[in-house]
Amino acid sequence: MRVLVLGSTGGLGGALAWALRGHELFLSGRRPGPLRALAEEVGGKPIPADLSDELEAQALLEEAGPLDLLLHAVGVAGRAPVRQTPRDLLEGMLQAHLLTAHHVLKHARFRPGARAVFFGAYPAYVRFPAFAAYAAAKGALEAYLEAARKEFRREGVHLVLVRLPAVATALWNPLGGPPKGALAPEEAAQRVLRGVLAEPPPEVLEV
Ligand code: NAP
Repeated sequence: MRVLVLGSTGGLGGALAWALRGHELFLSGRRPGPLRALAEEVGGKPIPADLSDELEAQALLEEAGPLDLLLHAVGVAGRAPVRQTPRDLLEGMLQAHLLTAHHVLKHARFRPGARAVFFGAYPAYVRFPAFAAYAAAKGALEAYLEAARKEFRREGVHLVLVRLPAVATALWNPLGGPPKGALAPEEAAQRVLRGVLAEPPPEVLEV
């Protein structure tokens, strides 16, 4: 498969890249140093990009070319009560989760039968005090994909939303670290790939 892993400098994306060794791999993230190091280790092509910038996203997707599998393991987390949430935090959250996904889907090219995978959260775990911005970004992504799925189906492309439980990655750093019982990223990656590569592809996969 020709595979593009976005967010591969992150915990989940890195584990997905390792699990997909042997495929034709294109790896992206914002930090060029760690991205290059990972690409050497797993045998992929590093293409750094900030996906909140449409031109950077477009250039990345042109360079990656037609894909069989695209994994959007991109995001940020933050916690603040509504009355102390600055505009920047809410906008940053929507940008990291929704806008990056939009830029990617807008410019991606796919082979027939391809799958594009995005990561959401269980609503009950995030629709919680101090998580309004994160919950809104994940809810927006899920609604966006529900509509977009119907467009991409006509091109023979399957959009998959994966609802993840807590996974022990750096996403949790601003929140004081992952909760007890969080999945190891390697275990999460295995479960994700098993589910999204199943036939027929799921629309929503709960891990
Ligand atoms: P992570 O370790 O913090 O990695 C996040 C990745 O997103 C990094 O590679 C980061 O790149 C990249 N990124 C952020 N903003 C970007 C942008 N504007 N353009 C390009 N890349 C950008 O987080 P993770 O836990 O692996 O999360 C992956 C996905 O799973 C996210 O959507 C997250 O919301 C979702 N998820 C995670 C959990 C969990 O418990 N970990 C639970 C539910 C859902 P750089 O590091 O290079 O800046």
